[in-house]
Amino acid sequence: MSDCLFCKIRDGLIPAKVVYRDDVCVAFEDINPQAPTHVLFIPRKHIPTVNDITAEDRELVGHLFTAAAKVAQERGHADPSDGYRVVMNTHAHAGQTVFHIHLHLLAGRPLGWPPG
Ligand code: AMP
Ligand code: ZN
Repeated sequence: MSDCLFCKIRDGLIPAKVVYRDDVCVAFEDINPQAPTHVLFIPRKHIPTVNDITAEDRELVGHLFTAAAKVAQERGHADPSDGYRVVMNTHAHAGQTVFHIHLHLLAGRPLGWPPG
């Protein structure tokens, strides 16, 4: 998708603070962090929403989770006394604003539940 913000970040056309990358995903700091740790994990493959994930993407989606857990652990958030949240927003009621799926990793403060 040539007009996709996160495809442009993936391709290095728009700058971002990349914290992790491999052959399947790229992770970068959220530009408007909602917690001390707020990192976005995107697949290199352009998928607009969770609705568009297919059976062939199962490994890719699992990969996003293992990458997020790795960064969470590196930052000390895997400890039971700390903790973190991973979430993907889909469409209007969830507040999705960028239509290239991304797993939010939020941590570093107590996170309210239920979400607003
Ligand atoms: P969502 O609302 O779930 O679609 O999340 C989109 C996220 O992308 C928001 O948390 C934004 O702050 C973040 N974001 C938007 N533009 C950029 C950018 N250029 N670099 C990093 N994060 C961004
Ligand atoms: Zn994209």
